[in-house]
Amino acid sequence: MTAATCPFPRTCPVPDPARLDLRTLRTVSVPEQRTHYSVYSIAHDKSLFKDSGAGDTRFSPLFEMGRPVPTLYVANARTAALLETAFHEVQPTGVAVISRATDLNGKGLRVLDIPADTRVIDLRDNRLGDLGISRSQLVATSAAHYPCTREWAARLRQLARQPRAAGLLWRSRVAEIASRRSALFADLQQTDYAEVMVLFGDRLGPSSIDATVEFRDLSSPGVADIIESIADELGATIV
Ligand SMILES: [Zn+2]
Repeated sequence: MTAATCPFPRTCPVPDPARLDLRTLRTVSVPEQRTHYSVYSIAHDKSLFKDSGAGDTRFSPLFEMGRPVPTLYVANARTAALLETAFHEVQPTGVAVISRATDLNGKGLRVLDIPADTRVIDLRDNRLGDLGISRSQLVATSAAHYPCTREWAARLRQLARQPRAAGLLWRSRVAEIASRRSALFADLQQTDYAEVMVLFGDRLGPSSIDATVEFRDLSSPGVADIIESIADELGATIV
């Protein structure tokens, strides 16, 4: 199945979640003492979670009973946080371009401390293998298929399980992009690094996450060095 709005239904790689036995999936706790990063919109910096119902990302926006589910993307590396949000058009092949005006302007970066008792559904590579699907069918699709991957998030939220999962965990595309573009990127190719989560605010109190702003404006000259090094890692050009 593909989403009704999938632009390429005949070649859509995303399978119908209703046709797979999702009971093989497990929840895991967020690793303790791990720093997490999150890109945020400066215009909406009052709340951690995004609940406007706007946007077009892999697992958000989601709607239940006609209301948007509050969501927050976090990653355990800055590069992964940026790649899954601001740089989500950067693909393993093709020309990688990061636009200062549209990808960086108006965005900041926060450091987050997430409670260790937060439980998320494990969609890392081995668990996807248990389901009989590959990364490229769910967590590493192109942005065109985000309507289809959002159908998975909606279904996974419905899985009856106590306590109910507060999010989804997967491995970022950082490693595959980096390994194709740079041989000097070993740290992000380790399996426990560059993991990404989407957290659901209605299943996790916002006060339970401790957040500090690391960079207030990603397009400012003061952050240029780190943005350029991340672009280098991804083999991307900043315009
Ligand atoms: Zn699709």
